[in-house]
Amino acid sequence: MWRLIFLLLFPLFFLAIPAQGQAPETAALLVQPGDTWLALSWRYGVSTADLQTLNPHPNRQRQPVIGDTIRVPATAERLGKLDSGAMGGVLATAVRHGVSPWQVAWDNGLPSPSHPVLGRPLFIAVGDAPPRQLPPLFTSLELSHAQAYPGEGLAVRGELTTAAWPSAQLTLGTAVGDVVTNGRRVVGLLGTGAFYQPGTPELSIKVAGQPLWAQPWRMAADKEWTYNQMTLTGTAAEITDEAIAAERGRLMEIWNQTSTPPQWTGSFQEPIANYLNYSSFYGARRSYNGGPYSTYHEGLDFSAYGGSDVLAPARGTVVVAEFLYVRGGAVIIDHGLGIYTGLYHLSGILVDVGQVVEQGDVVGKVGSTGFSTGNHLHWDLLVSGEWVDPMAWRERDTAAWILAGWKE
Ligand SMILES: [Zn+2]
Repeated sequence: MWRLIFLLLFPLFFLAIPAQGQAPETAALLVQPGDTWLALSWRYGVSTADLQTLNPHPNRQRQPVIGDTIRVPATAERLGKLDSGAMGGVLATAVRHGVSPWQVAWDNGLPSPSHPVLGRPLFIAVGDAPPRQLPPLFTSLELSHAQAYPGEGLAVRGELTTAAWPSAQLTLGTAVGDVVTNGRRVVGLLGTGAFYQPGTPELSIKVAGQPLWAQPWRMAADKEWTYNQMTLTGTAAEITDEAIAAERGRLMEIWNQTSTPPQWTGSFQEPIANYLNYSSFYGARRSYNGGPYSTYHEGLDFSAYGGSDVLAPARGTVVVAEFLYVRGGAVIIDHGLGIYTGLYHLSGILVDVGQVVEQGDVVGKVGSTGFSTGNHLHWDLLVSGEWVDPMAWRERDTAAWILAGWKE
């Protein structure tokens, strides 16, 4: 019995030997998906308790927050994989990674390959990446960017060990999107609105509503929004909340459909070449006729001369081409994977529903139709049924990043 306990605890003793009498040298680490306390303890050869002492937090159950910078020992990293499933024990795990079962047993402080592992992750010293605790059957999982802001379109991409994978959902707190596969490639997208609360919501991959994996992700607070007081007079003041809701409801049925595969072919471009300036940014808080700031601007406005060409920002299929009450002359393009472009207040529409447009094709002319006070183009971008910031989408080049993860 004592021998068994010793053998089980041996690796922890071995890993936990501190530098006597002096504070350990530390380094900064930007937390990535799968950088759990356990994965980091394997990576740096220290106990999870030592790592948590370096990074105090009242809740020890809480995993490191993706996008945060934490302190880790300034020692050489150990490379390898954490097999989080540990399915079939040491023997099956060793076979799966093409290594000796005795080596796996040794690396994990087990007396023999037949020793039960009780579902705990096994460390396998293969590969050239640090060990991470990823969802079962994932060999990699990356984020479109480490630190997210409210209002952004966010994406994950990764690879699976199998092409047979169920349909799944990606959630970030209250935001929900789809996870789709292309062979062994996997991509998940979601949109957060401009009213999304800063904090550390949990990023989760769910199958049939059950989380396969979850880790908190930093939603940064230091984003500055502009505040616009709008005064509506004349016909604009007559637009009712009911009319706005009815038009939105009809379009939301279109926006909530997800077509695959991606139709776009690279980075998105701005939907107009000749404009004077940006006249309103995404996320600007709006108060109408002295009311509360209860709504925000859902797109990016380009001030431009009437009749200027309006362009497709990326390849896609036209799903709306008509004059609407609030949005005026409207063209909506489905780019695939639940990503939609809307171009509004057009004076002329030059495309038809069902038409495939290439990036840069002229789809309409700048105007001031619908709920508009002057010639301008309003570009909105939806991801998973949520308006996101088109400017951040282009600056991050999220579209090209997703595509790179999708292609075989
Ligand atoms: Zn606008």
